[in-house]
Amino acid sequence: MRISYSAMDSYQSCPLKYKFQEIDRIRTPKSKEAVFGSTIHETMKFIHTPGILSPTLDQAMEHFSNSWNPAVFENPDEERGAFSQGIRIIQQYLQKNRPQDYNIVDLESRFQIEIGAGEETHIVSGIIDRIDKTEDGYEIIDYKTTKKMPSQEKVDNDLQLSVYLKAFLSRYPKEIENLDKIKVSLYYLKHGVKLSSTRTLEQLQKSEQLFLDTIKLIESGKFDPNITPLCDWCGYQNMCPMWKHKFKELRKIDTEEVNQAIMEYIELKSAMSITKDRLGNLQESILQYMDQEGVERVFGETGIIARSLRKTYKYDEEKLREILEPLDKWEDVLKVDGIALKNIFGVLPFEAKKGLEAAKIVDKETKSLVVKKK
Ligand code: SF4
Repeated sequence: MRISYSAMDSYQSCPLKYKFQEIDRIRTPKSKEAVFGSTIHETMKFIHTPGILSPTLDQAMEHFSNSWNPAVFENPDEERGAFSQGIRIIQQYLQKNRPQDYNIVDLESRFQIEIGAGEETHIVSGIIDRIDKTEDGYEIIDYKTTKKMPSQEKVDNDLQLSVYLKAFLSRYPKEIENLDKIKVSLYYLKHGVKLSSTRTLEQLQKSEQLFLDTIKLIESGKFDPNITPLCDWCGYQNMCPMWKHKFKELRKIDTEEVNQAIMEYIELKSAMSITKDRLGNLQESILQYMDQEGVERVFGETGIIARSLRKTYKYDEEKLREILEPLDKWEDVLKVDGIALKNIFGVLPFEAKKGLEAAKIVDKETKSLVVKKK
């Protein structure tokens, strides 16, 4: 299989989005965030393109301004806000970084590498924003224009950086001897913060396996939607089963009856939750009163309320086994306990986890409705 790193990233965030994008090849207009990101990336390339003189701040801002596309923004206020944010990013970047201090090896470096072996060999492609030669090694940098910054732990396990490092090593194979001197970094431009890490050989092998596992999932042909905050930026909402109902006016499909049912269901559900809270409070006061008065039943004009004590029991497994095994009945009552399995899942070795995942079968599917009030 041929796959780009960004396509794999799409699959990991939402398999259905991957399908729309890579299999059905449905093109959507670029989002304003993506256009903003590309303009900033172009400006970063301009700032670091080796030349006789490095660009000044004014030249960098002029380059940004010339590449700016106001048409993608919804209104002039939004467009102005984004433009000034871009200018702030460039100013802040050049205050912290003097381009002449860096020894740039490559910018927007395209790669194609093989991962896996034998029949399971795949080609992964991508673009590394920047590779620098440092005093004692190299640094691989990816620029980010997202607002949210990850924890250091996430950077230490970031798959993208591992793939980029693998691509770098396929170009400079001897550098495998100096892995500890090759930094991999994510530069969060909105915050002016660079988060760096390194990789061991073992980590690289693990990330390759993770990549191969994801490719297997893609090849299995399951493309379920995955609702996350990233849906807000997804261009496929109007065809996604999780969202397309939101565009019902455009598709002119609903009857008044369905709209009425949706409204009534949401109202009843919220009335039920208010009732549940109120019942809880009333129960507490009545139980308190019963304790205080030493009574087990209270009498009202419309009925009687009695206190009942419900006991639940569990068995001591060893004792149960001692009794049932000689009777040949132990196997009959032995069941895989899903909760216990979940508790130990985190500490199992990778192979065992894969085995358990493969052993999972759907027992029962229950459909219910979950209400999220606007
Ligand atoms: S809207 Fe969300 S769930 Fe639907 S395809 Fe896009 S990312 Fe996936």
